[in-house]
Amino acid sequence: MTQQGRDDLWRDFPKTATEFEARFATEVDCRAYWIAARWGGKPACARCSSKRVWSERDGFLFECADCGHQTSLTSGTLLEKTRKPLKMWFRAVFEISTRRTGISAKDLQRIMGFGSYKTAWSWLHKLRAAMVRSDSEPLGPFVQIDEALVGGKGGPYKELVLVAAEANGRVRLAHVENNDEGTCKRFADGQITADAHVVTDGLASYNENSLENRPHDRVVQTKAERRERDALQGCHWTISLLKRWLIGTHAGAVRDKHLQAYLDEFTFRHNRRKTNGVGRIAARVIEQLVVREPLPMRTLIDETRRCRWFGSAQAMMA
Ligand SMILES: [Zn+2]
Repeated sequence: MTQQGRDDLWRDFPKTATEFEARFATEVDCRAYWIAARWGGKPACARCSSKRVWSERDGFLFECADCGHQTSLTSGTLLEKTRKPLKMWFRAVFEISTRRTGISAKDLQRIMGFGSYKTAWSWLHKLRAAMVRSDSEPLGPFVQIDEALVGGKGGPYKELVLVAAEANGRVRLAHVENNDEGTCKRFADGQITADAHVVTDGLASYNENSLENRPHDRVVQTKAERRERDALQGCHWTISLLKRWLIGTHAGAVRDKHLQAYLDEFTFRHNRRKTNGVGRIAARVIEQLVVREPLPMRTLIDETRRCRWFGSAQAMMA
């Protein structure tokens, strides 16, 4: 969709619960919004892209007049094969977008009236998959990099997370197997501009191999110096917010193989904390539900890799 169309969908999205109830009162309302987000207003055949389609099953299916292929509203999207109405999904999107700290599976189960916890859990994972990094702009021009041990089932703080933070700006978080030179290099190359000025602590992995030609201050501070002026304050704040969020909203119940998905949600919210626009966030989530690949339960449970973005090369092959 064009930038113009996207901006219209953002502007158009309800900002309060009352507006939301009125705007998305029926399944037809939700379908119209979904069709605007997915196809810019007029459904197209998933096989041949023809716009000559006939609506069937009350507007949930479209049959192509040219090739006969049937396209459903949700096929090929994160909501593929959902048996629940879009209206319920829109409600869930609104709930997670209006809460600054997100929502736990237990709370979603209660709000939506789901019989099973598993349903709420899988819904949240789909919504989380829609809350991934959307700005491809690498961080800069001043970036702090640090690491922390967070989460971890069966004991506090055992999963290693790399953190990059702009001064008072955006952050990036990566669940990693280790913090060797190669991992730090992949993190820096993927997340930070080639000419950013980088500040780190004394860890030896941050060097001319991993950070290449970026100007680099390696700052080793005592506790007293840190209290006075913390050179890695952006990272330290981010880490403490992250830990509080994992414990507060999710009661620390995050499996290591899903940790990256939680980091993505945290980053999505954190990087939009100044936008302060429920409508913008919710519209963005729906836009991503439309364009992202389906995420069936089987994939979620059996095929999710630990450290899926920054694991070792070997683990990536598995
Ligand atoms: Zn067709």
